[in-house]
Amino acid sequence: MTQPSKPCDLKIAWLYGARMNIYGDRGNIIALTQRARWRGIDPEVVEIGIGEPIPDDVDIFFFGGGQDQEQIAVSRDLVGPKGKAINRAVDNGAAMLSICGGYQLLGHEYRPYGAEPLPGIGLFDVTSEAGSERFIGNVLVESNEWGSLVGFENHSGLTWLGSAATPMGKVTIGRGNNGKDGTEGVRFRNAIGCYLHGALLPKNPKLADWLIEAGARRRHGTDAALDALSDTTEQIAHRSAIRRAKQMR
Ligand code: GLN
Repeated sequence: MTQPSKPCDLKIAWLYGARMNIYGDRGNIIALTQRARWRGIDPEVVEIGIGEPIPDDVDIFFFGGGQDQEQIAVSRDLVGPKGKAINRAVDNGAAMLSICGGYQLLGHEYRPYGAEPLPGIGLFDVTSEAGSERFIGNVLVESNEWGSLVGFENHSGLTWLGSAATPMGKVTIGRGNNGKDGTEGVRFRNAIGCYLHGALLPKNPKLADWLIEAGARRRHGTDAALDALSDTTEQIAHRSAIRRAKQMR
């Protein structure tokens, strides 16, 4: 990316960072901010908790995973003006990465085991429900947009795609959305939902840069690609995770 005259800013909203942040998910915030800084972009991370409003100039949202208990409180806070603000922001080009418990609450609803369903904000055309089995292990996904993606799943939730939903990719190792239809995650505009903890982005630099580019495009209208990074360490970690997933399947 040809650098703007001054380091452009990039506003990252970390949704419920204190409550929805398990299995290394905060590593996604570290990857987004550091990869932006390496390109001379000055990122700002704003943590949005219960009762706190969504800023009207967010470029990238991050929404991590969390247990059912946290999801109940967060769901109550999300449904209404905040959910509408997130939908509006994504419609206007903001990027989103959501993982597991966060992903589930961005669909139509998530029904915890043996409990009443929690309403989602309907960003993704998906519906989720807790199953009786817990899916735990390494995951390898093949995607059209980002090539191979590696991560770690730990969820009992089963997510089913509606007719308007486009999966993030196809599961080649692991269970993914529901362990049945071979899909993992969902993509809508510049928003991603998936079950890939780990953290996801440090080992999948192409996806990290895709989110940063989308955020920069929203703020500055630039369509240019980011300057390439060597990504030697990231690629070693990516290949090592693929080897581990293949050994442990
Ligand atoms: N409570 C949800 C489930 O078990 C989400 C868990 C998570 O975020 N890892 O499916």
